[in-house]
Formats: sequence, structure tokens, C-alpha cells
Amino acid sequence: MRGKLLNPHTFTVEQAESETDSDRSLGLSSAEARRRLETYGKNTLEAGEDVSALKILFENVNNIIVYLLIAAASVAFAMGDTVEGFSVIVAILIAVISGFASEYKAQKSVESLQNMVKTFSKVKRDGKIVEVPSEELVVGDILFLEEGDSVAADARLAESNSLATIESALTGESEAVNKDASFKGEEYIPLGDRSNMVYTGTAVTRGNAYAIVTGTAMDTEIGNISKLLSESGDNTTPLEEQLNRLGKTLILLAGVVALIVTVLGILSGEEIYSMIKIGIILAIAAVPEALPAVSTITLAIGMRTMASHNALVKSLPAVETLGSTTVICTDKTGTLTENQMTVQKIYISGGADYDVEGSGYEPKGRILKDEDLVNLEKDAELEKLIVAGVLSSNASLVEEESQYRVLGDPTEGGIVVLGKKVDVDRERLESSGYSRVVEVPFDSKAKYMATLYRTLTGEKKLYIKGAPDVLTEMARNSPKELERLEKANDSFTEQGMRVLGIGAVENYSGEESESSVKRALAGGIDILGFIGILDPPREDVKQAIDEAQSAGIRVIMITGDHPKTASIIAGHIGMKNTEVVITGREMDEMSDEELAEKIKSTSIFARVSPENKLQIVRALNIAKEVTAMTGDGVNDAPALNGADIGISMGIRGTQVAKDASDMILTDDRFSTIVDAVREGRTIFDNIEKFVYYLFTCNIVEILAVFLTIVIGMPMPVLALQILWMNLVVDVLPAMSLSWEAGEKDIMKRSPRNPEEAIVTRKFLIKVLWNGALIALGSLAVFGYALYAGYDIETSRTMCFSAMAFGQLFHVLNARKKNPLGIGKDFLKNKRLVLAIASSLALQVLAVYLPFFNRVMDTKPLSFYSWWIVALGSILPTLIIQLSKHRENANKTVG
Ligand code: ADP
Ligand code: MG
Repeated sequence: MRGKLLNPHTFTVEQAESETDSDRSLGLSSAEARRRLETYGKNTLEAGEDVSALKILFENVNNIIVYLLIAAASVAFAMGDTVEGFSVIVAILIAVISGFASEYKAQKSVESLQNMVKTFSKVKRDGKIVEVPSEELVVGDILFLEEGDSVAADARLAESNSLATIESALTGESEAVNKDASFKGEEYIPLGDRSNMVYTGTAVTRGNAYAIVTGTAMDTEIGNISKLLSESGDNTTPLEEQLNRLGKTLILLAGVVALIVTVLGILSGEEIYSMIKIGIILAIAAVPEALPAVSTITLAIGMRTMASHNALVKSLPAVETLGSTTVICTDKTGTLTENQMTVQKIYISGGADYDVEGSGYEPKGRILKDEDLVNLEKDAELEKLIVAGVLSSNASLVEEESQYRVLGDPTEGGIVVLGKKVDVDRERLESSGYSRVVEVPFDSKAKYMATLYRTLTGEKKLYIKGAPDVLTEMARNSPKELERLEKANDSFTEQGMRVLGIGAVENYSGEESESSVKRALAGGIDILGFIGILDPPREDVKQAIDEAQSAGIRVIMITGDHPKTASIIAGHIGMKNTEVVITGREMDEMSDEELAEKIKSTSIFARVSPENKLQIVRALNIAKEVTAMTGDGVNDAPALNGADIGISMGIRGTQVAKDASDMILTDDRFSTIVDAVREGRTIFDNIEKFVYYLFTCNIVEILAVFLTIVIGMPMPVLALQILWMNLVVDVLPAMSLSWEAGEKDIMKRSPRNPEEAIVTRKFLIKVLWNGALIALGSLAVFGYALYAGYDIETSRTMCFSAMAFGQLFHVLNARKKNPLGIGKDFLKNKRLVLAIASSLALQVLAVYLPFFNRVMDTKPLSFYSWWIVALGSILPTLIIQLSKHRENANKTVG
């Protein structure tokens, strides 16, 4: 057995089987599969495995802050100050270990969430079909493939039933190609012609098959391609990049300030050694140590919160993009609506109207004609229509604990239930002599499905169901009758119903093949009648639409249904401007630019095909919108890929759609999208909050040291004290800001422009004056202490504490954007309360513990001194709060 087969398309099935040591009927044993997995490795395409612990550790060590600290420690040792030297080394360890630990934890939580969106494949193991994670596929596995599956390994077909796959990822060919197990090819035929093979990255559009895996991971055709394309492998989000840039700017700024201070200090006669040390310390003070870790952690927390609300987001960048979504394009059927199709109205050609009672999939309810119960035995026309509908459907009804569920297409489910209400069912018909010989499957472009049946007497009957407009075009009913049908269609759609036409060719005489069935259809069918199907909107949709719209997010409805049905439902769920509808056919005539213009004032797209969806995505890109787009079918994959956020359906969606999407809704609900957007916005807000908080703290320290040097006062705080504040006191409150709940008005604001920087002029000004205020507060404490005759250590301890507390209290300014930070909900963020409490306690320890007294040159303070410290640290925050209050009052008045 080897890791892969060369040119498997030249093998017979038996050869492929023996070459891979496999067994078509039993599959591999799970023990053998495990052994092969261990020998040949996982079936994944990424060259680089998951981010390893080692890499995170390395990034935390290979870091400007660590270098600065090493420099500081060296200076200390060089000057014989061993205590300080060792303390700085401890600081290095704290910085590296805590940075590593929190980032590693975040990474693990991201990975465990990503495991939830793993792709699964159906394989035969130990004689049974089981689902295994696709990355565990090995050569020799027997794959089972059916419509909607994505192919996760290269495999030689062993058995196939009208299998077709889309290989555009590999060959660029967008049409589905037919596959056939019995084909055996020459070595040099092109990939697209190897019809006995299926390849990784392709998707099954119809049929089913068993296939023997012949290559996995990089030993696949797509692996060959990705070997050529060097993958960037970089996982930083745009926001993280912005923050990195910001951090670098700050370091540069600090370098300049440090240089000036050092030179100034030396010129004014300070000791060179201590000035160099202060320079280094200033640089340390300016570096936002916690920033990169905290932003990763915040995004990871967001990912987890979203997952617990049924939105599985695959990557951190997607979490970020969600927050700036400006347009949500959503499928109507199943996402906005319940996908519980109930037939309520029937119109029979010739002019008879019926009402059907009952709701949902429970097969109970009468059929009434002019309020009289109908007897099917006496109504041959109605019976014909229902039989035709049932025989041209594939769905089936199952009962579990008196709950009814439909397997298959919900629209067909409605028809099957209608049949059951009057005792017409496919199984019974088929066992009484009807046998299906040809099926033209439903596809959302053609919008119909047809079946050919042979009866006991040898007659052939063709049944068709599909969109009324499609059937009308094939119809050979009289013009008068077509007019009446048209009227019935109008009346049903006006009630918000999906309308389906049912037709037949009773005396079919063509061949038993798909192509001749299609020819017969084009040659003329008899429309038996129309049925009106109600699919009620989901309960919470109206509220979610309201929320999205008041958040400045446009909702666009996309559906294969009739324009009128779409617009009525859109009105019911509270969408804006529901009168204008663009149909797929109109879109086919438009250029992307034209559509980009039209889409500004249109929110409903009806009778669309999957290609139209992609067109909508392109138009919205031109219009510079940040687009979230839902999809569930194989054909939706390009649109999902093209959208900024592709959203697939966890329940109803195909594997292919899930693979192509950035987010999976595990409950298929529209409101979950809006929840995820809210969460995305909250995360962004929180990032902005801790950036504001951490930057202010850095500014406080730079300003305090800088000012005293300029004035010519002694150092107000010492190197290790600054380190203590940055690595111990500030970190916990900063992290706790990641857990802040969203602001009340978070879904009342308009979407954030993703290109807008966090650090604007306004932001800088705020950080500067806030920082200056806190710095002045602690310097005032320092000045007062010196003036009152305290010794320098005590004065410094007071200044150090005032500065630490001043920064700590500043978290209250940062936690809410508009309202005061100390509202009723303050206690809600338990982590914040805990962080403040523990930082306060640590600072008290720094003042009283003899060990810290020795290391940081602090001295225990008297009760009276604490009052001064309190004053100097609380006042700045009070002033900032008051100014925010006034700003708020002005806003509400204005
Ligand atoms: P949607 O995007 O709303 O799910 P579809 O593309 O599934 O729309 O359906 C488009 C139209 O095709 C429907 O309005 C209906 O008339 C018809 N249709 C839907 N499902 C089936 C089916 N299983 N068989 C035949 N016709 C169907
Ligand atoms: Mg559908």
C-alpha cells in the first residue's frame, strides 16, 4: 500500500481496489484506517498546521517590549543594581508568560470552534456507512457521495448513478460534468475528461456514487495547484494590522521622547546612568504591551459568544467584518419564512376553486369546494391533479412521536401532505403498478421538475410541477383557460402564497430518456391546475428586520418565488419599499454597473437564479457595500465566496455551501444574522474601548516623567513602578473590557466604515487630555507630598499609588461610550469588578509588603496620605465623567 495512486483514472475498479488494499463492499476497518492516518497523515491542504504553541511563545519573546526590558536589566546589572536587574527579569517572565497564556487560550478556543465547522464525509468503515471528519480520510477509504456533498479527496469511482460534479475550482469549467464509474481512460487525457474520477474541492450536483480514495491532502490534484500558489498563511485581521501599526507609531514616538528626556536630563546634570535607565523605562511606558493579545482575545470571545447564539463564524477576520455589515441579502424561503409549506388553495383548469384545511405538515384537514366537503371519487379532475403532484415529488412524510416531519424539499412536502389528506400516496400508487422510469430533477434555474411513469397497462404518463410562468410557456391549454389560470395565479400570489403549477402529458409516446422527456415538455403540456402554498414568516423575523433597519443595515430579499408573493411577504415582515421588484430575467439584461445603480432603491429580487445572486454580490461590491449573503445550495457557492460574509444554513444547507461560507447558522434563522451583527459591533466597540484605555495609561506615564524632567523635579515614579503599573495593574481591567455587554444604542447607529481608523484626531485629543489630567492628578500628589516635607520615597509611593489608582479608575471612563461608566449595570460585568478589586489589592500590597518595599523602593503610607492619594486619583476621573455628562446633555438637547 502506498500513500497515493498514480494515474488512478487508467485503472479498472478492481485494480484500484487491490492497489489500495481496499474492499468495495466493506470499506476499511477502523483500525486499518487509523493506521493509515498515522502513517500518511491528515487529509488537509494547509501546509502550515494549526498555529502551534511554540509559534505563539516565539512571538511573545521576539517582541520589542522584551528587548527593551532586556536592555533595562543589562543596564541595571552593569551598574551593580542586582535587585533591580532581577526584578526586571521577573517582569520579562510575567510579560512573556501572561501574553503567551492568554493568547494560547484564545487560540485554543478559536480552534475548538473551528472544529465545530469541520467538514464531514460519508465513508464505509467496517461494512457500515459512517460520517468521519474529512481530514481523517485515507487512501483506500470507500466514499459515498450524493447531491450537495463536497468531495474531500481524490477518488476513483467504483459505482455511480447519474453522478455529476462541478469542477470549477479545478478546471474553471462552470457547467456540471457527468461522471461514470465504468469509464477507463488513457494516461494523458485532460483532467476534465477523467470521468471515472472525482476530485477534492469539487461538488456533487446530482446523482450518487461510491468511490475509492486514491489520494489525500497534498497528494491530490488541488494539492498540486496549491503547492504552486504559495499560501500567505497570515491570519492577522485588518484591525489587528491597524493596531500593530499603531503600536509601532507609539514606540517610535516613545523613542523620540525618551531621547529628548535623556539628553535634557544629562544636560541638566542628572546622573547619566539613571537618565539612560529612565529613557528605557519611558520607552517601556509607552509600549502598549497588552494590545495585540487583548485584541485577539476579544475577537475570540466574540466568536464564542456568536457560537453560543447559533452563529458559527469560521475566522477572526469574519467576526470583525460582521460588525461593519451594511447590507444583508437573505433568501426568503426557509430563512425569513418557516419553510413549513401548507397547500391552502387549489384551482383546477376548467374553473373550480378549492380550499384546503389544516396547517403545517400534519396530514389532517378537509378539502372544500364552495364550503362543501369534496369526495375525491366523484371529482376525477381533482384526483388527477393530486396524483400528478404526488408522483412528480420526491419528498416523504415521517411521523415521530406524533410530530410530522418532511424528508426532502419542503415545497414537495406540502404536496405530499395534501395527498395524504385524501389518501393519495406515492408508495401505494407505485405498488399498484406505477413505476417511475425517468426523472428530470428540480433545479432553481429551470424551476420545474418532471417525472415519467409507466403504468401496468404499459401506458406512459408524464407529470410535471413547477413555477406557473414556466408551465404556462409549455402549455397547450386554450387561451381562455390560460387567462383563468393567470387570474388564479394573481389571486394566490396576492395572498402571499407560493404558487405551483401541476401539469401532465397523459399519452406520452417518446423514449424513456431525459432528453426526449424534455423535448415532449417543450412540445406542449396540459396544465391540470395551480395550487397555492402558504409558508408563514418566522415569528421573530419582523423584529429582527426592524432592528437591522434601525441599525442602518439594508435587508434585501432574494427568492425564486413570484414577484408578487415576494413583495407581499416583504410587506408582512416590515421591509421598506416593497413595491419595486426586480426579476432575474430583468437582471439578465443588466450590466453590473446598472444593477449597482438600481439596487440602491430595490430590496426585492424575485425569480432569481444562482447566477443572479452572484450578480447581486458584484453589484453591491461596486456600490461599496459590506455584504452578507445567505445561501444553501451547491450553486450558491460562488455568491457565498464573493460576498464579504457568506452565510450558509446549518440545517438545510449543503456541505458545499457550508464550505464556501464564512459563517454557518446552526438554526437557519434570519434573526441569528442580526444577532451576530450586533455581537460584531459590540466586539469592535470593546476593542475601541480598551485601545482608548491602554493608550491613555501610556500617555499618563510618558507625560508625568516628561513634565517633571522639563520642570526639573526629581523622578515622580521609578522604573520598576512603571513596569508594575503596565504589567500588573492595568492588564486585568483592560482585559475585562472585552467582556462588556453591548451599548444600548449599538443597533441604533449606522454601520462603521471599515476603512475608518480607530485612532482619529478626535480620539487622540481625548486620549491626550484624559492622560494629562490623570498625570497632573498624581503629580499634584507628588508636589504636595514634597512640599509638606515627606521624604522622597514616601512622596514617590504616594505619586505611584495615585497614578496606579488614577489609571485604574479610568477604566470607568472607558467602559461606556456615552452614558456614565458607573451606572446600574456596573456590577453586570463581574470580570470588571473583580479586576478593579484585585488591582486595588495588588497596589496596596505593593505599598505594604516589605518585599515590594525593598524591590520597588516603596514605603508604607499613613491613613492621611491615602486621603491625598484618593483625591489625586479620583478627581481626574470625576472631571472626565462630568465632561462626558455635559457632552451627552448637549447631544440630547441638540
Ligand atoms: P426560493 O429561492 O424561494 O426557495 P426556489 O428557487 O426554490 O425559490 O423555487 C422557485 C420556484 O420554483 C417556486 O416559486 C416554485 O414555483 C418552483 N418550485 C420550487 N420548488 C419546486 C419543486 N420541488 N418542484 C417543482 N417546482 C418547484
Ligand atoms: Mg427553494
